[in-house]
Amino acid sequence: MGPRDQPDFVNAVACVDTVLDPMRLLAELQRIESRHGRVRSDERWGPRPLDLDILTIGRARIETARLTVPHPGLATRNFVLYPLADIAPLDLRIPGFGRLRALLARIDSGGIERIGAGE
Ligand code: ATP
Ligand code: CA
Ligand code: CA
Ligand code: CA
Repeated sequence: MGPRDQPDFVNAVACVDTVLDPMRLLAELQRIESRHGRVRSDERWGPRPLDLDILTIGRARIETARLTVPHPGLATRNFVLYPLADIAPLDLRIPGFGRLRALLARIDSGGIERIGAGE
């Protein structure tokens, strides 16, 4: 995403079980980003040490100024859908977007490369 002249980045998806409500979860994720040296800048999608986004939370649909769930960019980003499919069932239903299987069928794997364990 964004400026082309930036280093490659690693994407991963994790599934978490939490007692935090969504806004509190977002705040905690941002605290973790800060602990990893992230400073907020004006350039969107520019290089940063860590970016933690909430993709989807069960059946929830949230639309507030600070939080949109499911994440609106999810359906068009292969670097999100492929790692999501590594940990989630293909019939995962993403509110407002449909099944993960259908989203994957509409996107190719151009520009991304699998790394890490198992390769
Ligand atoms: P993108 O959201 O398109 O991937 P980004 O991750 O680079 O872009 P950030 O600068 O990290 O964007 O975040 C901008 C703001 O997006 C955050 O301060 C947060 O309030 C808001 N936001 C809205 N929905 C979400 C979400 N689902 N997960 C994380 N942040 C979100
Ligand atoms: Ca992001
Ligand atoms: Ca983010
Ligand atoms: Ca994986």
